[in-house]
Amino acid sequence: MRDQTRCVQHPPATLDGFASLAVPTYRASTIVYPDGQSFLTRNSRGFDDYTYGMHGTPTTRVLEAQLTALHGGARTILVPSGQAAISLVMLTLLQPGDHVLIPDHAYGPVRSLCRNYLAPRGVEHTIYDPMIGGGIDALIRPQTRLIWVESPGSGTMEVQDVPAIAAAAKARGVPVGCDNTWATPLLFKPLAHGVDVAVEALTKYVGGHSDLLMGSITVADVALRDRIKLVMRDLGIGVSPDEASLALRGLETMAVRLAHMGRVSEEFARRLAGHPAVETVLHPALPSCPGHEFWKRDFAGSASVFSIVLKPGLEGRMEAALSALKVFAIGASWGGTRSLIAPADVKVDRVAVPWPYESGLIRINIGLEDPEDLWADLEAMLAVFGG
Ligand SMILES: *Cc1c(COP(=O)(O)O)cnc(C)c1O
Repeated sequence: MRDQTRCVQHPPATLDGFASLAVPTYRASTIVYPDGQSFLTRNSRGFDDYTYGMHGTPTTRVLEAQLTALHGGARTILVPSGQAAISLVMLTLLQPGDHVLIPDHAYGPVRSLCRNYLAPRGVEHTIYDPMIGGGIDALIRPQTRLIWVESPGSGTMEVQDVPAIAAAAKARGVPVGCDNTWATPLLFKPLAHGVDVAVEALTKYVGGHSDLLMGSITVADVALRDRIKLVMRDLGIGVSPDEASLALRGLETMAVRLAHMGRVSEEFARRLAGHPAVETVLHPALPSCPGHEFWKRDFAGSASVFSIVLKPGLEGRMEAALSALKVFAIGASWGGTRSLIAPADVKVDRVAVPWPYESGLIRINIGLEDPEDLWADLEAMLAVFGG
C-alpha cells in the first residue's frame, strides 16, 4: 500500500472493552459487502438489514427500536419531519379514486396536502367534526382508505374519542392514522387504542431543544412498514444519523421534561381560567376543553401546549400585548426548552364546525424556565389586554 491509499483506508480499531453509554453516530451512504455473492443478493435483504445509508444505519435503527418499544408497535420509520411522516402515510395508502377523512382541527399543512397535492391527483378528502366519535361511520365511503385523527388537535385542543373512531373504522376495514405529537407515547399510545399507524413530529418533544427536524411513523403491522419504505426508496427520502443522534439524546430526558411541563401547563391553565381577559382556556385537563372526558379516560397526563381564547373585542391589542413579553419567545414549533406564544386565527380554517368564538386563540407552550418568571410574564401580557 502506498500513502495515497493509506489515506482512504481505515485500519480497524477494536471495539473490545469499549462500553460507552452513548449511541455511536454511524454515517454512511455506501454500505460495502464482504463478497460478491452478498452484493449480488443484496435485494433480498429486507428493511431490517443494511443496504444503503439512506435506508438506515445502526444509529437510526436504535432510535427506531426505542420508539417502537415505547409505542408497543411492530416497527418505526424515521423521516425528515413530522409533516413528512403524515405525507408519507397518505402517499402510501391513497391511490387515485380513494378517499380520506381528516379532522377539522388537523395540523394546517395536512389540510393543504389534501387540497393542493392529493386532490389534483384524484384523491378526495372530507373534513369531519373532530368530536364525531363513532358517528364517523356515516362518512365512510366504499372508497375510504384512511381515517386521520389528531388528538388533541393543533391549537384548538379538542381531544378525540380515538377508540370509538378506530372501532367504527375497523368494522369497515379502513386503517386509522393518528398524529400523536402532543402526547408522545408517554401520555397516549395510539396503537393500544385501535390505531394502525401513529406519527409524531420528533421535532417537538423528542428533539426537545428546538434544533432539529424529524418525524416518526410507528406501525402495528410490519407489512405497512415495508410499503412505506418502498415509497421512501422511490422518492429518495431518509434521515441523517447526526440528527438521529441528537434525537436519541433528547429522548433520554423527555419523560422528565414532559412531566415538569405538564404540571406547569395544568397549573397555568387553571389560573388563566379565572382571568378577566380570558374567555376560555382550551387545555385537555380542564372540563372547558372539548373531549376532556376522553383525555381523562385515555391519557396518562398533560403536555406543554394549550390555548386561551380572549374575551371579545380584545384582539386589537395583540401586537402591544405580545411586545410586553420578556421571557416567552414569540414563535411556533413547540416542545423545546423555551416557552413560546403564538396567536392563531381559527375562524378562516374551519369547514365542518364553525369556530364558536369571536376571536382566535393564543397558543401557549410551557418550557423549562422558572414557572414564576413565566407567570409574571403572562400577567404582564394579559394586563395589556385589560385584565
Ligand atoms: C409540528 C407538528 C407537525 C409537523 O412537524 P414538523 O417536524 O415541523 O414537520 C405535525 N403535527 C403536529 C401536531 C405538529 O405540532
